[in-house]
Amino acid sequence: MPEHVLPHDSYLINLGHPDKEGLEKSRAAFIDEMERCAQLGLPLLNFHPGATLGQISEQESLDRVVESINLATRQVDGVCAVIETTAGQGTTLGYRFEHLKYIIDGVDDKSRVGVCIDTCHIFTAGYDLRTITACDNTFGLFGHLVGFEYLRGMHLNDSKPDLGSRVDRHESIGRGKLGTTVFAYIMRDARFDDIPLILETINSDLWSQEIRQLRVFAD
Ligand SMILES: [Zn+2]
Repeated sequence: MPEHVLPHDSYLINLGHPDKEGLEKSRAAFIDEMERCAQLGLPLLNFHPGATLGQISEQESLDRVVESINLATRQVDGVCAVIETTAGQGTTLGYRFEHLKYIIDGVDDKSRVGVCIDTCHIFTAGYDLRTITACDNTFGLFGHLVGFEYLRGMHLNDSKPDLGSRVDRHESIGRGKLGTTVFAYIMRDARFDDIPLILETINSDLWSQEIRQLRVFAD
């Protein structure tokens, strides 16, 4: 099913780039990636929103991201720009649910914008997921600020760094600071049904075991 495939764009693309040349190059590269998705019949393209590089304010950079999405979706039909939540490492945007809401609010065609939650990234950005109560609170806040109608995919990763460290380092499921609670929670909760759930965990030898474990959680 093509809607269960969630390609990731190049990490070099920065749709909130502070300088004109960098922004233009990023926008051209993003449109190129969108066109490739359209040609392949893939309706989703995952990307990290961008970074200020310390040269402009987050607000200014977020405005550039909005305009970049509007430009891209006007040029290419049928592909949804899926903003990934980030850990907030360095000067990156997207580590607050408010950033996602701000970008979505600015996009003209709401059917062409969505969100991918990365469990490692939101945890190190400061949203706790270690207990059922913490998951209720964090996903409740997401639902309130952004809305589950925009959730188009999940990256399921445990985290090497601790809550709020703003460092992006994935760990295998159950072997990091998150443990297994959040993954069991996601597998059982209907708000996460019918979207791609993608492992970006660090040890490929464990992937088949991790997938089996996730399936057991879902039963
Ligand atoms: Zn991710």
